[in-house]
Amino acid sequence: MKKTIYPKIFCGYLIFGIVGFIVVSTFTSRITGNYIKKHESSSLYKEATIIASDYAVSYYNNDITLADFEERIEALDNYLGAQIWVIDIGGDILVNSEKKTDLLNLENIENFDIMDFGGKYYKTGTFYNYFQEEQLSVFAPISINYKVKGYVIIHKPMRSLSAYHFGLLNISYATLAILFLCALLLLILFVRSVILPMRKITRAANEYANGNFDQKIDVYSNDEIGYLAASLSYMANELKTLEEDQRKFVSNVSHDFRSPLTSIKGYVEAMLDGTIPPEMQEKYLNIILFETERLNKLTKSLLELNKFGKHGMMIDTSTFDINNVVKMTVRTFEGTCKEKRISFELILTGKELYVKADMSKIQQVIYNLIDNAIKFSHHDSFITVETTIKNEKVFVSVKDKGIGIPGDSLGKIWERFYKTDLSRGKDKKGTGLGLAIVKEIIQAHHENINVISTEGVGTEFIFSLPLYNKEDE
Ligand code: ATP
Ligand code: MG
Repeated sequence: MKKTIYPKIFCGYLIFGIVGFIVVSTFTSRITGNYIKKHESSSLYKEATIIASDYAVSYYNNDITLADFEERIEALDNYLGAQIWVIDIGGDILVNSEKKTDLLNLENIENFDIMDFGGKYYKTGTFYNYFQEEQLSVFAPISINYKVKGYVIIHKPMRSLSAYHFGLLNISYATLAILFLCALLLLILFVRSVILPMRKITRAANEYANGNFDQKIDVYSNDEIGYLAASLSYMANELKTLEEDQRKFVSNVSHDFRSPLTSIKGYVEAMLDGTIPPEMQEKYLNIILFETERLNKLTKSLLELNKFGKHGMMIDTSTFDINNVVKMTVRTFEGTCKEKRISFELILTGKELYVKADMSKIQQVIYNLIDNAIKFSHHDSFITVETTIKNEKVFVSVKDKGIGIPGDSLGKIWERFYKTDLSRGKDKKGTGLGLAIVKEIIQAHHENINVISTEGVGTEFIFSLPLYNKEDE
């Protein structure tokens, strides 16, 4: 079974919850506990200082009576919820807010030593075992004439602080629970928007790898995942067309090789077994020669197209006179034209017209276009080859008054092996690769080629080339 990411995510989520709980119950608890203790002791300390510097001093100086002092302290006791003592240096409790003072029989804290506070103004504990439960005890010295006479000590039960502490901790737990829930929501969102689409994409990618390019990916989100799915679908589509093209190409090639080979085989066999008598053999040998030439041409064209490869062809740019190339190419057709009584009309711009391109390849383009024009022209017609300049470009046009190309074939003539039904009767030798080569060459130059044609009237091919500008040098 394939491993999925769910258990990992679930474990991560649980770990997040457990770690969160541990952090709140230990770290947060300790921090809030310490914070509450400090905060409480500092406010109690303020109270103790006020009592020490005000009431206690007044009491020591006999400005107020013991009863007055007790009464005030008791009121404060109620207000603070804490026990307030005035204790002397020896540990005698002079005043206790919760007990009436018996001056003759003072309570004493044995071993009382202010140094036990350890340099701080508060400490926690049962205060020399005086209390049953833990207290927060805060002291402030009573100084008269720069001499410490005793201390005001305020005791507050830790229990009252704990309640506050628990309250705060509960808020932390509640916050944690909300965060935990939010994380769950985020998790669900993550699973829905990332993991599920990813699964669909992976499934489709596997199908593509197995050659099934029809598999659809129904992920249409407007984000990276959506773009990924769209790119993958696009790629699958391209691969599918590529595969179809390749299949078509191979079947065309095999067909084009098979028919001449079959006819050659048939004639040779017939000659060998005497079906074709020796006096007739010359005629059939000529047919065999014709078919062999066709095969030769086909192989050459295929090799040519193959050379272009996937990344286009190498262009060997030079500066040359296009008018001259046109004239030279036209000359090579003189023989064929004489046979068909076809004449050429050359309308060339300037005496010389320089372009920057691959000369031998452009010569091949012009050759293929003129070859087509002658093949598909009627006897006694003429072909016009024209060069013009427009917007820093040179345009070369090859125009005939031949059979023309039907409208629905115009888009297909650039495809490999495509031949219109009209042309089949006129040219049996053609492979349908000439224009495919022409197109590749023009595209490799980053230029354009167009065709204008009317069935039964004629055809014009026009392509552009970069004009050579002396100022560019
Ligand atoms: P090859 O060029 O290999 O000899 P081909 O001439 O048949 O074969 P292309 O040059 O690729 O192949 O042309 C493809 C088809 O386009 C031709 O078969 C023909 O049907 C049509 N075509 C091309 N040029 C012309 C033209 N000038 N007039 C009429 N039809 C044309
Ligand atoms: Mg051709």
